[in-house]
Amino acid sequence: MTDQRIALVTGANRGIGKEVARQLARDHGLTVLVGSRDLGKGHSAAQEIGHGAEALQLDVSDQASVTAAFTNIEAVHGRLDILVNNAGVDYDTDQRAYAVDLDRVQRAFATNLFGPWATTIAAGPLLEKGQHARIVNVSSGAGALTGISGGTSGYGISKTALNALTIKTAAELKPRGIVVNSVCPGWVATDMGGGGRPVTEGAKGVVWAAVLPDDGPTGGFFRDARAIDW
Ligand code: NAP
Repeated sequence: MTDQRIALVTGANRGIGKEVARQLARDHGLTVLVGSRDLGKGHSAAQEIGHGAEALQLDVSDQASVTAAFTNIEAVHGRLDILVNNAGVDYDTDQRAYAVDLDRVQRAFATNLFGPWATTIAAGPLLEKGQHARIVNVSSGAGALTGISGGTSGYGISKTALNALTIKTAAELKPRGIVVNSVCPGWVATDMGGGGRPVTEGAKGVVWAAVLPDDGPTGGFFRDARAIDW
């Protein structure tokens, strides 16, 4: 299968992001930009993925890095079709909201919320030039308000806020034909997950949202291609 579209996956040097990049390149024939804050690790991942994947230095918590990365995409490709905001940090099962290290929470927010927000802003003009433009925010059931309870406070609340960003950007970008959704990959065996299902399974639902047809849903929260409660 071939597809001329260009996709950027953030945090794609390992874990779910690398597998999403692999599936988009191998199974859908997309040109995939492997976002990595360490360019060397990005090159290694891109080489392993093959199928024309290219490394791109991108630390989503660093505005200068975000600006440079999207300037580079514009210069080389002139547009972007798919943005997968996958980079995420600090599944803080050890933290309680009433006794949290707020500096640590702010660092988590810098990557988990303000990172995707910054890349969305930077990507906007390029996505408007793109074809069947999509944004996927890789979220988590830990951010769902339905059934919310204590614990995993910084991470959970950062993902709740990311889901709100999904709803707002989806509503604002709908008239421009840009589809935006949140996806929970489930519990996945990565460095962050520390156990769970294979990364190939976790990545599938993210890829599904990245290649949705034009009449696909926007402004939703999904796991395994099925809507879940916010
Ligand atoms: P992971 O194995 O820990 O990988 C995280 C990736 O994000 C790495 O490539 C890391 O790069 C990158 N990253 C971290 N901070 C970054 C930054 N500031 N800028 C750019 N890249 C950055 O985690 P994962 O399990 O693959 O998680 C991927 C996404 O799925 C996250 O958003 C996570 O919250 C979500 N999720 C995971 C699970 C699960 O069970 N694994 C469940 C629900 C949701 P470095 O190598 O440079 O650190």
